[in-house]
Amino acid sequence: MNKNAHQLFAIGLATVFAYLFDINLFILPFILILAFFIGSFPDKDLEWGIGHRGVTHSLLFFFLMALLCTFGVFYFYAILESAIGVPVFEAEVDENFIPIFFTKLSSLDMDVIFNDGFFKLFAFFFSSFFSHFILDIITLSGLDVTKEVHISGSIRSNNTFFNFFFGSVGLITFFISLIFIILREISGTIFEWSTWFYIIDGGLIVIIFIISIGMKFKKIKEDYTCFDYDKKVQLCIPKGTCIQLGSGKDDLICNE
Ligand SMILES: [Zn+2]
Repeated sequence: MNKNAHQLFAIGLATVFAYLFDINLFILPFILILAFFIGSFPDKDLEWGIGHRGVTHSLLFFFLMALLCTFGVFYFYAILESAIGVPVFEAEVDENFIPIFFTKLSSLDMDVIFNDGFFKLFAFFFSSFFSHFILDIITLSGLDVTKEVHISGSIRSNNTFFNFFFGSVGLITFFISLIFIILREISGTIFEWSTWFYIIDGGLIVIIFIISIGMKFKKIKEDYTCFDYDKKVQLCIPKGTCIQLGSGKDDLICNE
């Protein structure tokens, strides 16, 4: 997908997390700007000449970068808090937030962990990076998920319709989530129909994801024919091609 589609989709997903995790309004504008740039950041590999869709598109990279952003924002606000003397973040955020977070983590109490400011912010940044992964994996080139597994879809990354579609979904999700956040701030309650919005919104993405990946598998099945070779190995050969498996005449296998 193109830069704009990645950036808009990233802030859409990030605002959903900001809403679900009730992220402090003082830091929201700042971290949304970060999420916007994070959305297209993995494609910097094109400028750096380190091979496209390699290390900057891996889950480990997303994890480490999200961790780095979280530390950065926490320290920035811890410094800001002590400088202006006004609490801008939740009470748990001070210079001891890392040991406090690990104490909570070791409790294995999910309610406690999910409500920790550090965890919320990490989830927020990880989702911004992960949004890039979602949009790249459904394209024809796809991505390496692990060293052995490569997943790709059937959408061309320069497809005008899909770039417009994902950009629009991101933008609409961003604005509607922002309205949900403002309404909650005013009334102090959450709205039941916000759940329905996210079910429809997320469901649409999941459907496109499944269709794109699914079509690719179907295409492989249509174009290739598989045989049991030697009763042990299954061979799949594209239509109209032959494979020479050994030096003998019988070792030439064709799919007419
Ligand atoms: Zn990419």
